[in-house]
Amino acid sequence: MNTIKSFARSFRWAFHGVAYALSTQRNMRFHFAAAIAAVVFSLVLGIGPLESLWVLLAIVMTIAAELWNTATEKLVDLSMPKRHPLAKAAKDTAAAAVLAAAVFAVAVCIIVFGSVLLDRIMDDAYMSGTIASQAALLGVLVLLIGAVIYVRFAQAYQTGYTRKQQEGEYKMNAGEGRAEELLQHAREAGKRAYAPYSNFWVGAALLDQHGHIHYGCNVENSAYGPTNCAERTALFRAIADGVKAGHFQAIAVMGDTEEPITPCGTCRQVMAELCPPDMPVILGNASGKQRLTTVSDLLPGAFRLTKEEQL
Ligand SMILES: [Zn+2]
Repeated sequence: MNTIKSFARSFRWAFHGVAYALSTQRNMRFHFAAAIAAVVFSLVLGIGPLESLWVLLAIVMTIAAELWNTATEKLVDLSMPKRHPLAKAAKDTAAAAVLAAAVFAVAVCIIVFGSVLLDRIMDDAYMSGTIASQAALLGVLVLLIGAVIYVRFAQAYQTGYTRKQQEGEYKMNAGEGRAEELLQHAREAGKRAYAPYSNFWVGAALLDQHGHIHYGCNVENSAYGPTNCAERTALFRAIADGVKAGHFQAIAVMGDTEEPITPCGTCRQVMAELCPPDMPVILGNASGKQRLTTVSDLLPGAFRLTKEEQL
């Protein structure tokens, strides 16, 4: 009895999911309308069982893709309420799945309904029923226009990202693309750490806008207070070498930690001061685990000078 109850409950949740997507997603309503139109068309034209299966597959695929897309969007919003290049990548990819399903659905409609209508036109011409053949032609035309609108609609997923955020994404990709390389440099830098008190090495590799890499490692002190972290060593060293504040592309930090290392509050504040807010920060550990984040994500609402004041 309990099994039946839980089975019924899971169905109810699934139904809630469909109702949620229908009430919140404009595209979902469109897919449902298109599905009803396809069913009506199938009935009117009296298509065979095999053709019906293809139409059914197209309907189920499109609606399932839209449901997955909605679920992905909500999950991403939950884990990353702010705009983030990786969140955008996840959402865009999920939307692309809907587009792929929609293109398939349009192709099925054109092939199935188009071939049936074409047969009718040929028959009509043979039987010389001119009015009926014109009606069939009109049907094909309406179908084609509908198909175009459908594809256009599926493409119309608005991302709403500004140019600046897109640049941020570009930077993120550039930093991400060199993540492995920068982490290797960070590992090398870590070998130079002066850590006789903690025996805990940390290395950093900072990439500037000219493509030069600046190294950093932790440098400890018996008085503890003067100890400097790897991230700050790399940043201070780069500034001393002539790199202007803000002219950095990415930083990789590595330590012998269980999870990817995470910068201390002081280093986050220094990064917020000297690095662009959307700059990628690649965090790693000695066993190869990685985490990609940004300066502003590490320190939201950072206290810093405006760009004009800084330059
Ligand atoms: Zn630190």
